[in-house]
Amino acid sequence: MTILQFNERYPDEASCIHFFKEQREREGIICKKCKSREHYWLNSLNMFQCKHCEFRTGLKNGTVMENSKLPLRIWLLAMTLVSATKKGFSCLELQRQMGHSRYETVFRLYHKLREAMGKRDSQYKLEDMVEYDEAFVSKATKSSERMKLKKGRGSQKQASVAVMAESSILEDLITGEKDKSCRYFKMVKIDNLKAKTAEKLIKGLIDKKAVVQTDESTTYSNLEDCIDVHVSELSSTKEGKFNLKWVHIAISNLKRDLQKYHMVSEKMLQNYLNEFCYKLNRRYFGEKLFDRLVIASICPYLYTSG
Ligand SMILES: [Zn+2]
Repeated sequence: MTILQFNERYPDEASCIHFFKEQREREGIICKKCKSREHYWLNSLNMFQCKHCEFRTGLKNGTVMENSKLPLRIWLLAMTLVSATKKGFSCLELQRQMGHSRYETVFRLYHKLREAMGKRDSQYKLEDMVEYDEAFVSKATKSSERMKLKKGRGSQKQASVAVMAESSILEDLITGEKDKSCRYFKMVKIDNLKAKTAEKLIKGLIDKKAVVQTDESTTYSNLEDCIDVHVSELSSTKEGKFNLKWVHIAISNLKRDLQKYHMVSEKMLQNYLNEFCYKLNRRYFGEKLFDRLVIASICPYLYTSG
C-alpha cells in the first residue's frame, strides 16, 4: 500500500477504528475476566463488552498497542510503512516517512512492532533438518568503555547471536545432485557461548525429532538430550559439503542489514533480529505482509497457530 492509498483508505481516526474493530472481530476477542469470546460492540465508547460478565475491552487492550496513547491512525501508518519494505527502517528514517515530530515516540512504537513480530515467530518450532551456528555482530559501546575492551573472538565490542535455519535436502532426480532449500530462520541474542546456552535454545526452539547440524565445536558435543539426531560438519558423508549453508548465508545478510543502523545497542538487538527473521520467514508474502503484521499486532499473546 502506498502513502496515497493509505490516505484514501484511512483518512481519519474513525476509519482506523472501523478497520481495527473488524480485524479484532475476525481474530476473536477473549474476555480477560471470564474468557468468553462473545461480545457486543459499544459504538459510543469504541469498546467491546462481554455478553456474559459485561467486562469491557478497549480496541487497544490485549494488543501491541495496549497502554499507548497514540491514535490508531499513527499505528496503522507505521504498520503500513514497516510492512512495505523487505528491509527494516532506521527509526530516524521511519520518523521521516511518518512525518512525526517526536523521535522517541517512533522509536518506542517501532520496537513494539518488532516485539510483536518476535512473539509471532516464537510460536513455531523449527523442524526437519536444522542448521545451527553462532555469529558475532557489532554492537554500540560507550566511548568511555571502548578503550578497556579486549580484542578477539567473541570480543566485547560484539554481541553473540545464535542462528538457526530450517532446511531440507533436495535431490535432482535426473542428475542425482543434491542441494538444500530453506524455509524458516530463528535468531536469538545470546549472553555467552557456553554449551548450556546452545542446549537450552535447541531444546526450546527446535522440534525434538529434527536433525540438527552444527560445526565441530565442543559446545555441541552433548546435544543428545535435546535432539534425536545431531550431525556435525564433515561427520555426514554425501551431504557434508552443504552443511550450514543457509545459516552462513543468513549471517552474512544479517551483518549487511545491520550496517544501515550504524550501531545497534545490545539491549535492542533482539528486536532487530525479530524484524529481520520475521521478514525473511515471510519473504514470499508480498503485499500480504501488511495483513500478517496487523494480525501479529492485534493478537500477539493469544495465538497458538496460523
Ligand atoms: Zn466476560
